[in-house]
Amino acid sequence: MSLLVVGSMAFDAIETPFSKTDKIVGGAATYISLAASYFTNDVRLVAVVGGDFPTESVSDLQQRGISTDGLQIKADEKSFFWSGRYHNDMNSRDTLVTELNVLGSFDPLIPDSYQGVRYAMLGNLQPSVQQSVIERLRERPTLIAMDTMNFWMTTTPQELASTIGMIDLLMLNDEEARQLSGQYSLIRAARHIRQMGPRYLIIKKGEHGALLFGDNDEVFFAPALPLEEVFDPTGAGDTFAGGFMGYLAQTDDLSFANLKRAVIAGSALASFCVEKFGTEQLAQLDETQILSRMKELIRLAHVPNPIA
Ligand code: AMP
Repeated sequence: MSLLVVGSMAFDAIETPFSKTDKIVGGAATYISLAASYFTNDVRLVAVVGGDFPTESVSDLQQRGISTDGLQIKADEKSFFWSGRYHNDMNSRDTLVTELNVLGSFDPLIPDSYQGVRYAMLGNLQPSVQQSVIERLRERPTLIAMDTMNFWMTTTPQELASTIGMIDLLMLNDEEARQLSGQYSLIRAARHIRQMGPRYLIIKKGEHGALLFGDNDEVFFAPALPLEEVFDPTGAGDTFAGGFMGYLAQTDDLSFANLKRAVIAGSALASFCVEKFGTEQLAQLDETQILSRMKELIRLAHVPNPIA
């Protein structure tokens, strides 16, 4: 099934306690669409870049079967630039620079060939931009998911609340869930956020895994794969989102059991993302590696019934 991916495509400059990059290609939509392309061959990308964006990076996406008909290239402008520095725990980071450039005036145009799309993943962007994407889809997708960040909770809370009211699944990290809901307990936070509109909620906890909330207080927890080396966590959340949504698009089954499998798929993809800088590892995986990590995660989470 088809998956619409909307989000930033960017140059990122990353500093970790162990290493540092100059400008490398990143952005939420880059990570989401690459990850999703391992599960569905119908990924339709909507994004904007400047004339400085490397054509090879666009070809890399096309080679993975991702449609770039909805990618706007503003030849005379500069691409979005983000720079961040990770703390010693490699879980938290400070944003050093955000230069919106082309993203500042992004008008997400949906090509006719993208209409009728079955699933949609709206990466972190200004909520009004995410909302205009939903409004421009003539037929409502079966499931619309979105990501956001604390910045929008502070600067445009009403716009954000109205966009959250239009979607089916929200993905946040634990800190953002607490800020959005005003609740410390993640169970209470989830209840509060689901009352804002989305039927499903995923709370990401970095190296501590992810929680999925659904109807009737259903909850699922999946660990993150413990890795020997975490090199660069940038894009892990977006990669998780891409793996999760790609898996749903492949299986087209919204039962809670299948959403759990999608969480495992997302976690497996995210584990590859953090092992190298940027999209390096994510661009060249094969199916066997992905399946093997999904199995590892299932083994890790499995408890033989002690009561039987
Ligand atoms: P993650 O590590 O999953 O939170 O995603 C990091 C990616 O988000 C980087 O590649 C950045 O280019 C991108 N990013 C950072 N800040 C923003 C922003 N304000 N709007 C859109 N994308 C952003």
